[in-house]
Amino acid sequence: MRRTLAATVALLGAGAMALAGCSGTDDGTDSGTPTVVTSTNVWSSVASAVAGDKATVTSLYTNSEGDPHEFEASAADTAEVTDADVVVLNGGHYDAYMEDAIKGSEATAINAFDLLAGEGHDAGDGHDHGDMNEHVFYDLAVVGEVATEVGDALADKDPANAETFRTNAKAFNEKITGLRGQLADIKAAHDGTKVAQTEPLAGYLLDEAGLIDVAPAGFTQSVEEGQSPSAADRAAMEDLLSSRTVHALVYNTQAVDSVTESVLASAQKSGVPVVKFTETLPDGVTDYIAWQSGQIQALSAALGDHAAH
Ligand SMILES: [Zn+2]
Repeated sequence: MRRTLAATVALLGAGAMALAGCSGTDDGTDSGTPTVVTSTNVWSSVASAVAGDKATVTSLYTNSEGDPHEFEASAADTAEVTDADVVVLNGGHYDAYMEDAIKGSEATAINAFDLLAGEGHDAGDGHDHGDMNEHVFYDLAVVGEVATEVGDALADKDPANAETFRTNAKAFNEKITGLRGQLADIKAAHDGTKVAQTEPLAGYLLDEAGLIDVAPAGFTQSVEEGQSPSAADRAAMEDLLSSRTVHALVYNTQAVDSVTESVLASAQKSGVPVVKFTETLPDGVTDYIAWQSGQIQALSAALGDHAAH
């Protein structure tokens, strides 16, 4: 495996090295545009907002229908990470292939999950310490921090454009503040409202919006792991919907099987509003803020609908 990677990197770098006439170094990017490689296109959308047209951002996972939990990086993907100037990974075992790939790399690595852990966020979010929710791209504060770190890393790699990177990161964070304002509005109107998710995807966002996810933990964990929930968990989930205990169903469109489809049908039959959330960017969407803003508005509308009944 390592030999293959080294060969690939050598091939990619050969042209630049020949032109530059330089010796041993295999990054060959000193004169070029900095490169950023991310695991999913959610993280590349954050990095792109900071990079603008001054850096090249590549995402390894871009399928809007598949499940990124099940993604396996190819040798070419790994080589891309190894060769990058800056790497943005989710961390927390969400994209373990990135954690492996950066071991042999000199890239500046930004690990979102580690930033979250650094905030001491784990105390109040309802999750056990050893079992923290790894979907940190739904934690807006962490996403803003990642943008700031990307700005600092790119400024370091390309000092001539440092001002641009830091300005872009600041502008992105102002938009994040706007989204958090929308969550505060939901909280003001619906604090303590019960909802259910099919997967613990949006846990951090729901927390900030004051909503309580009462879906059976066994149900959401099974869906996340691609397994079938137990009969008892399925019955409990069905009951939450038929009794309209929950005021919205947050449905991950990228973790779907016959069980979640049946839950979706039950919600529709019982008149529980369904909010469709995605794990990566939908086709045609490249902007993190637009993506998340659309989802937050859908959530707000669903809760508003309920109040009107
Ligand atoms: Zn997930």
